[in-house]
Amino acid sequence: MTYKFSDRVPDPKNDAVGDILKAAADPKVTSFAGGLPAPELFPVQGVKAAADKVLDEKGPAALQYGSAQGVPELRNVILKRLEVEGIHTTADHVMVATGSQQSIDLTGKMFLDEGDVVIVEKPTYLTAVDVFRSYGARFVGVDMDEDGMKMDSLEEALKNNPRARLIYTVPTFQNPTGRTMTLERRKKLVELADKYDVMVLEDNPYGAIRWEGENLPSLKSLDKTGHVIYMGTMSKIFSPGLRLGWVVAEPELLKRYTMMKQSADLHTDSFSQYVCAQYFTDNDINDHIKKITALYHKREQLMMKAIDKYFPKGVQHSNPQGGMFLWVMVPGVKDSKELFDAALKRNVAVVPGDPFYGSDPVPGTFRMNYSNTPEDGIVDGVKQLAAALDEVMAV
Ligand code: PMP
Repeated sequence: MTYKFSDRVPDPKNDAVGDILKAAADPKVTSFAGGLPAPELFPVQGVKAAADKVLDEKGPAALQYGSAQGVPELRNVILKRLEVEGIHTTADHVMVATGSQQSIDLTGKMFLDEGDVVIVEKPTYLTAVDVFRSYGARFVGVDMDEDGMKMDSLEEALKNNPRARLIYTVPTFQNPTGRTMTLERRKKLVELADKYDVMVLEDNPYGAIRWEGENLPSLKSLDKTGHVIYMGTMSKIFSPGLRLGWVVAEPELLKRYTMMKQSADLHTDSFSQYVCAQYFTDNDINDHIKKITALYHKREQLMMKAIDKYFPKGVQHSNPQGGMFLWVMVPGVKDSKELFDAALKRNVAVVPGDPFYGSDPVPGTFRMNYSNTPEDGIVDGVKQLAAALDEVMAV
């Protein structure tokens, strides 16, 4: 059967990342490839207690259809989280989404026509690239250094691309690099968005997981003109399986999001929303975030020490102060997939860099995740990876 698919449908032959994750799922393999939180920290008993309470006290409402904008109890919980980001706002600025992934999707649907340009960090979150591509976007990548997106490159991109409709950024502990944009650059980005009248999509799943340095204000908190749309999620601080995220935007724009969401899935799972709100009411989420942060810090330190000890000279890596990822740059390697193959031969998996670039991939790069590998696997995994790098760099 030959299906007459739309242009949006991806070709399974090009599912490089799916193939990588499949190979990484082999129990023999130490995987630094995924992006999953540590499951041993999920607060299962707390969620069980919250779920019982919700069913006892609000059972019918939790099992009923709900509003597209989200359950008010959860939006109030989200307002408290936003305060931490320096965003002092009201519930009419907040919509619950089915994870940040849906917020990205609705944003693409709302702002992009075929051929429009999305400005992204080089590299950027690969699943955002997939989403925006499905809406016909072209990508213009902006160079980064350890301080995030370079503002002179951003301005050049804005000057040269009158069809730029969105700047998509993960300013804190970015996926895939773990890098964080400085305050000065944040201020400049907001200024440029206003000057060139382009919307900014600020994606902040990792900001709360910080073990070093000062909290930096979100772009949204610096935005005086309404150009920044902010997205948050429960996935990294609580549970990704509950699929709870949020969009923060001016009410006029949020109304459009709510209408678009209604056509996408009517609303986010009511039961999940009530259970999450109940959990946050009965427990101190900041205590929980502290536990997550301490464990990821420990794993990151172990990985960094092993990298510094075993990786060949000349290999560079980012130095995250929080989050779940680090980025590695290997000189002289033309094909990142070669790195992946050499590592997999030694039963270690990483994600090669190419799919993280909207355009013009930089070869010899890869992403490593440290949140999901127990301590006893980290050092040996890095040693094997170092041997793979030796092999690839020697060619
Ligand atoms: N944005 C970024 C940068 C991410 O890393 C992720 C998850 N890997 C998401 C969005 C999607 O997260 P979720 O839909 O679970 O909130």
